[in-house]
Amino acid sequence: MSDRTRFQLDQSRLPKAWYNINADMPVPPTPVLHPGTMQPVTPDFLGVLFPMNIVMQEVCQDRWVEIPEPVREIYRMWRPTPMHRAVRLEKALGTPAHIYYKNETVSPVGSHKPNTAVAQAFYNKEAGTKALTTETGAGQWGSALAMACNFFGLSLEIFMVKISYHQKPYRRIIMENFDAHVFPSPTDRTHFGKRVLEEDPESPGSLGIAISEAVEVAVTSGGTKKYSLGSVLGHVMMHQTVIGLEALEQMEMAGEYPDVVIACAGGGSNFAGFAFPFVHKNLTEGKKTKIVAVEPASCPTLTKGKYTFDFGDTAATAPSVKMYTLGHTFIPPGIHAGGLRYHGMAPSVSALVNHGDVVARSARQLETFEAAVLFSKTEGIIPAPESAHAIRAAIDEAIQCRESGQKKVIAFNLSGHGHFDMTAYESYHHGLLEDYEYPDHAVEEAMTHLPKVPAGS
Ligand SMILES: *Cc1c(COP(=O)(O)O)cnc(C)c1O
Repeated sequence: MSDRTRFQLDQSRLPKAWYNINADMPVPPTPVLHPGTMQPVTPDFLGVLFPMNIVMQEVCQDRWVEIPEPVREIYRMWRPTPMHRAVRLEKALGTPAHIYYKNETVSPVGSHKPNTAVAQAFYNKEAGTKALTTETGAGQWGSALAMACNFFGLSLEIFMVKISYHQKPYRRIIMENFDAHVFPSPTDRTHFGKRVLEEDPESPGSLGIAISEAVEVAVTSGGTKKYSLGSVLGHVMMHQTVIGLEALEQMEMAGEYPDVVIACAGGGSNFAGFAFPFVHKNLTEGKKTKIVAVEPASCPTLTKGKYTFDFGDTAATAPSVKMYTLGHTFIPPGIHAGGLRYHGMAPSVSALVNHGDVVARSARQLETFEAAVLFSKTEGIIPAPESAHAIRAAIDEAIQCRESGQKKVIAFNLSGHGHFDMTAYESYHHGLLEDYEYPDHAVEEAMTHLPKVPAGS
C-alpha cells in the first residue's frame, strides 16, 4: 500500500494477448442456432455476416490470443488506460473501504468501445472486406466503429435509433466526421425497416430494429458488406479483456487485490472486459473475488429475465443464442442509460451468472444519477449514465463496509464519460427523471414469443 492514487502502466506493458474465457468456462458451451431451422449454425452461415477470421475467434478455445501488432499500435494511442484510487469519494462516504476504478473514458471517443472496434476493423481489412454495416443507439458504438473504419480505410453504414438520431445530434456528427454514413432507423432502405414504418410511421426505433436493418443490408449485399456488432458475442468480450489484464497489473502496483469487482452490463462487453481476467483468477487460482454485474431496474435482463434461447434482434433474423433475455419483442422504456437497453446479454456472461460465478444486481435511475453526481463532485469526471450503475454498486458496497467496519478493496470499471449526456443530467437536476421498474407481467408476456427450440439444445 502506498499513498499513490493513480496507477499508470508504461506503454511497454500493453497486453500482448487477449484472454479467452472459452478455455476456462465452468460449463459446456451452448450452440448458436439458425433463426430459420433452429439447428446449430455452420461457420458458413456466420461467414455471411462476419469475416472467417472473426468467426474462428468465436469458437476458438485457446486461452490466450495474440493481439495483432497493427491493433496494438492503435491501442497505444490511449492505452494502457489509468487506474485510480478514488480517495476523495472514499472520504465523502466515510468508508474504510478502498475504491479503485479503471478509467476507460480516456479513449478518443470516450468509452471502452474502441477496444473491439479497432480489432474488428483490422480483421475485416485483413479478410478483404470493403464495407461494414452496424447499428448504434445513442452513438457510442457507432462513433467507435466509425473511428476504427476510418483508420483502416473501410466504408461504414450505421443504422442509428431514430429517437437518438434526432435528440442527440453530436455523436452522429462525430460519426460523419469519420466519413460514416448514418441513417435514422427504422429507414426505408430495408424490407424490415419499411415493414416497421408501415405499421407505425412515427416509430422511434429501437436497438433490436436497428440490428435487424444492419444485418439485412449485410446479408443481401452479395458478400460485399459485412456486419459488425459492438457487444454480446464472444470475440467482442475477448477484445475487451485488455481492460482487466491491465487492471490486474495496476492492482499489483497498488499492492492490493480486489475483494469486489464491479461493472455495468448492457450486452456485457465492458463487464466481461474488466471482470473476466479476475474471474480467471477465481476459476484457476482459488481467488474468491465477488464479481458483480449491474443493470438498470428498467431493463432487468439478468435479474428478471429468463435464461433461454432467444433471437439477437427484433425481426428474428439474427441467430438465436442461450442467454438471459427479456424477449426479443422487448420495447425499452425511455431511460437515459441508452447503452444498457438491449433485451439480451452475452451468452458467456449469462452462463456465468446462471452458474453462480457472477452476481447480478439492478439499480434504479434516480439512485444511479445520485451516485453519478457524487462521483463527479469528488473525482471530477462526469460519468456516462451507463457507467454510473457500476458507481452506484461500488458506493453501496463501500457504505456496507462503513457499517460493518470492513476494509474491503472494491474495483469498478468506469466504461465511459457522459459529456454527450448532459441533457440527462439537466433533467435529473430539475427533478424530471423518474424511477421505472420493468413489470413482471411484461416479462411474462414477452416470453410467449420465444423461439421454439428442439429438445436437448
Ligand atoms: C455501450 C456502453 C455500455 C454498455 O455496453 P456493454 O457491452 O454492456 O459494455 C456501457 N458503458 C458505456 C460507456 C457504453 O458506451
